[in-house]
Amino acid sequence: MSTPRAEQLRATLAATRERIAGAASAADRAPEDVTLVVVTKFFPASDVRLLADLGVDHVGENRHQEAEAKAAECADLDLHWHFVGGLQTNKAAAVARYADVVESVDRADLLARLARGAQERDAALDVLLQVSLDPPGTEHRHGVAPDALAELAEQTVAHAALRLRGLMAVAPLGADPDEAFGRLAEIRAGFLTDHPEATRLSAGMSGDLEQAIRHGATHVRVGSAILGSRPPVK
Ligand SMILES: *Cc1c(COP(=O)(O)O)cnc(C)c1O
Repeated sequence: MSTPRAEQLRATLAATRERIAGAASAADRAPEDVTLVVVTKFFPASDVRLLADLGVDHVGENRHQEAEAKAAECADLDLHWHFVGGLQTNKAAAVARYADVVESVDRADLLARLARGAQERDAALDVLLQVSLDPPGTEHRHGVAPDALAELAEQTVAHAALRLRGLMAVAPLGADPDEAFGRLAEIRAGFLTDHPEATRLSAGMSGDLEQAIRHGATHVRVGSAILGSRPPVK
């Protein structure tokens, strides 16, 4: 029953939960206000199964084909699937058929397709809007520019099959995460005045979850600190 891999995941998961609890208490927040989403990309469905045994109930994936296959293999488990990766327009409807939450919505041309996928499975789809934290004036690689967020939010709530739940962001490579998530908190404050029920904030990964929790993250997306390092991308 208990394999070396299971023991390893038990230990890294416990260490991560401790980091989350420590960061929450340092920010005067309750640890249960922060949901751990374990990002399982590149790791097999067998790891997802072990994580579910260890009490994980939210998992994240960033590539459609891999996510679709893993969600199908783990369909018997009671898991919430978060899609957190860059979304190709022509894959959006397919992602909405297995994801419980799409966190990476960053442009209007995804919305009708996501809504169509959700309707096909006869359930409303939770969405987060991914905000770019790239410094103003630079190219926004992933995420909607903060000054275009309000319009994208309006376009999102116009779809009955989509439920706007909040925001997601990634600290830019090389940036100070404390500064980046501080800006995110300001953006979120403005957003919440228009959409007070969209209270989720998905921010923080293995390297910067403490800073994200300090600035209000309700969901952290942690991969390598739990599962180990991935093969290099690109
Ligand atoms: C891979 C990934 C993560 C997890 O990153 P780690 O540094 O391994 O914790 C979080 N968010 C997104 C969007 C990702 O693609």
